[in-house]
Order: sequence, then structure tokens, then C-alpha cells
Amino acid sequence: MQGPPRRPTVTSTIGHVPVGSQHPIVVQSMTNTDTRDVLATTEQVATLARAGSEIVRITVNDAGAAAAVPEIRARLDDMGVVAPLVGDFHYNGHILLREFPATAEALAKYRINPGNVGAGRHHDTNFTTMIEVAKAYGRPVRIGVNWGSLDQALLTALMDENARLSEPLPAREVMIEAMLRSALDSAELAERTGLPHDHILLSAKVSNARDLWDVYRRLAQRCDYPLHLGLTEAGMGVKGAVSSTAGLAVLLAEGIGDTIRVSLTPDPGAPREREVEIAQEVLQALDLRRFAPSVTACPGCGRTTSTLFQEMARDIQAYLKAQMPHWKERYPGVEALKVAVMGCVVNGPGESKHADIGISLPGTGESPKAPVYRDGAFVTTLQGDAIVPEFNRMLDAYVERRFGGGHASEASERALERVELPGA
Ligand code: SF4
Repeated sequence: MQGPPRRPTVTSTIGHVPVGSQHPIVVQSMTNTDTRDVLATTEQVATLARAGSEIVRITVNDAGAAAAVPEIRARLDDMGVVAPLVGDFHYNGHILLREFPATAEALAKYRINPGNVGAGRHHDTNFTTMIEVAKAYGRPVRIGVNWGSLDQALLTALMDENARLSEPLPAREVMIEAMLRSALDSAELAERTGLPHDHILLSAKVSNARDLWDVYRRLAQRCDYPLHLGLTEAGMGVKGAVSSTAGLAVLLAEGIGDTIRVSLTPDPGAPREREVEIAQEVLQALDLRRFAPSVTACPGCGRTTSTLFQEMARDIQAYLKAQMPHWKERYPGVEALKVAVMGCVVNGPGESKHADIGISLPGTGESPKAPVYRDGAFVTTLQGDAIVPEFNRMLDAYVERRFGGGHASEASERALERVELPGA
């Protein structure tokens, strides 16, 4: 990977997943099921994990939810789903973690929001109670500040302090400072309570990309804890995906961020794992990680007025997606594959040569003849109704030879050695 250099941090371990320092940036997600519903939550965690979520957070908001956690963990283990579970605690985490030791054990990390641990003298007592449990079970915590639930006592104190200055800072600056102080002061209290330095991760989520950049740049300068990145309440659909990408990409390009989550509001009935897919695409677009073969496809234009090109691009992408579970097991490194699917001769052959394997149509109005390039060299021209299945066979063969340890079946070799058809 040639992504930007990462900000140095300590390494924390969440279950079996190392986080921080130069370890790969980890994709996280969160369920939206009622945690008391063991079957539904187990199923959704498994779906998210299979989609690529390496850590999954679940709500632990009452005794019923806390009681369900060990059963959810056991069922996931039985299914072979190893993704660590993180418990999301607000208001009553100090009670639940103390009263449900099996839950404290089953969870790999506790997320604590210092704005939601109680007010006044209860604040520190409740917070340190959770830290004591984390210590006892050797679990890391994420101190997760969120500006929608920022510690109001701290914010008010900083606002009052600011008002007394001869030149008060803008309210936004005070808000950012309150978020940083809430996270860093809480981390300091956790360490004073005895939690090891490398058992602490921080996040400070806001719902606007520019605010997110400012908060995290400052947070990154003031500590070496691993940072969990995400735009909170990013919204729905395209808006949510684009806002999250804008917020995450700038920071990741600066080397800031060790775990990420895309907090999409799903359309009713839409798959929850969409947030995992977007998080992976962001990391892949920045060359920070690879999860699946990348497909370079042109947008099409006046040269592709028929639907043939869109159908070809769609079908080849769908084929790659369908093959990946099987390919990943058999062909280590296959996610580095680069495929080009192009609409016409203007950029088609050029992009095809830059890809590992690429195909392009001639453009509208010409009989479909599609030159195929492999490793930068012309191989053959496909034509007729079976262009896509034939190209997919060539893809199979290429993957088998390049990622299969140099061995390819006889059929694959024949597909690879395909030469231009007479008259093509
Ligand atoms: S490659 Fe051809 S079809 Fe695709 S956008 Fe460029 S000019 Fe249009």
C-alpha cells in the first residue's frame, strides 16, 4: 500500500485485532437491533462481520441487553464469527458492567461517553467504576466524546472562562476545546485509576466535516492514543455517504485515524452493511487498504448511447463481487487486482493497458468488438453476444495464474492463451 504515512500512536488490542501505530486501519460498524433480541442481533453482527466489519459495536442500554451479550457472543463463536464485540454504554454503564460480569467478560472493549456518565460528584465515580471493570478484565476502553452529548458542566465552565477574557474566542473554538478536554481529561483520569496507557482509544465526533478536521487535528497533536474516526449523524443516502467520505478522507490523508466508522442513517429496509462497504471504499480509494479488486470504469458519454456498455460494466463488477468470497480463500492477494471496463477507444485501450486486465467497447454504432489487454499487452478481441462471459473466463484464468501460486488449470491456460479470432 502506498497510502500516506500514519501518525505514530501506541498500539491497543481489541480482542484479536491490533489497532493503532502502523497496523491497518480497522473498519468498524454498529448494529441497530434491540440487543435484547439475541437472534436478530447475532444475525446482524454476523452480516456486518461477513461484509468486512472487523469490530462490531452493540448497544448495551439496560439489564435485558446486558444479559443478552454473553449469549450473542457464544452464538457468534459457534457460527465462526470472530469479530470482537464492543459494548456501547451511556448513563448506566457503571451499574451494568458491575452487575453483569459475564457481559464485561464477553465484550472486547467498552465505549464510554464521558458526557453521559452522570453529573456532579457522580461523574467521576461512575466513570472510574467502569474503568475499574475494564482493568479487572484487561479490556481497553474507547472514550467517545460526541458533541451532541458533550459534558455540559465542562462546556459551561469553559464558556464562562472564555467570557471573562478581554478578547473572548468564538463559541466554536470553545466547543472544540471542550470536546478535547473532555476526551483528554477522561483519559488522564482513566490512567490515574490504573488503566494502562495502551488500553485507551479516543474519539470526538461531530456532524460536520470541517469541524471534524479541526477537532481531530488538534486531538492528534495532543496525545498518542489511537483515534477512532467518524462523522456522527452523517445522514441518509448519498448525503450521508459523501459527508462521511469528506470528513474521513481528509484526516486519513493526513495520517490521522486508526479505526473508522461510517454512521449512515439507513433507508428503511436497506442493508445495514452499506456503512461497511463505504468505509472499505474510502480506505481503498486512499490506497490505505485493499479489500476487493478495483474496477476502473468510465462514466460513458455520447459515444456510449446504447445500454450495452452500462450492462457490461455492471455485469463484470457483479461477477467480481460474486467471486470474491471464493477467490479470497484460494488466491491470497487477489484484492490487489486492477480491472478496467471502458466504453470506447478514446480512453479504453489506454486504461486497459494500465490495469492488470482490461476490456473496452468500440463505442456506439459499431459492432461490438472488445479488445482485451492483459499486463499491458493486447491479447485478443472479443465479439458477439458472449463478450462478458468470455471476459469473465479470462478473469478467472488471470486470477488463478497470478494469485494461485503460479499454477493454472489446463482450461485456464487455454483462456489465457486466447488469440485474436480470425476476422475480428
Ligand atoms: S472512454 Fe469513451 S465512452 Fe468512456 S467516457 Fe471516455 S470517451 Fe466516453
